[in-house]
Amino acid sequence: MTTTCAHVPTAAHAPRAPGCEECLATGGRWVHLRLCLTCGHVGCCDDSPGRHATKHFRTVQHPVIQSFEPGETWGWCYVDSAMLGPFPPLR
Ligand SMILES: [Zn+2]
Ligand SMILES: [Zn+2]
Ligand SMILES: [Zn+2]
Repeated sequence: MTTTCAHVPTAAHAPRAPGCEECLATGGRWVHLRLCLTCGHVGCCDDSPGRHATKHFRTVQHPVIQSFEPGETWGWCYVDSAMLGPFPPLR
């Protein structure tokens, strides 16, 4: 079963960075990575100290992320607070 919503972009934006952009810039550490499907921002999850994926949504209102962990295919819509997927794995 595939779960999607009206906020999912027709094509996922390619990742802009190999790791969380804010953590790479500040020397921070992350637990898991999330990709913004709208602009390709890579941010860290809510288990990470920086929570940069959620901060990215709060800052620019891009609604949908996908897990950037190897083999993971689930996504999340911040607007709907809903799990999405499966999407094609990003790596
Ligand atoms: Zn949505
Ligand atoms: Zn981060
Ligand atoms: Zn974005």
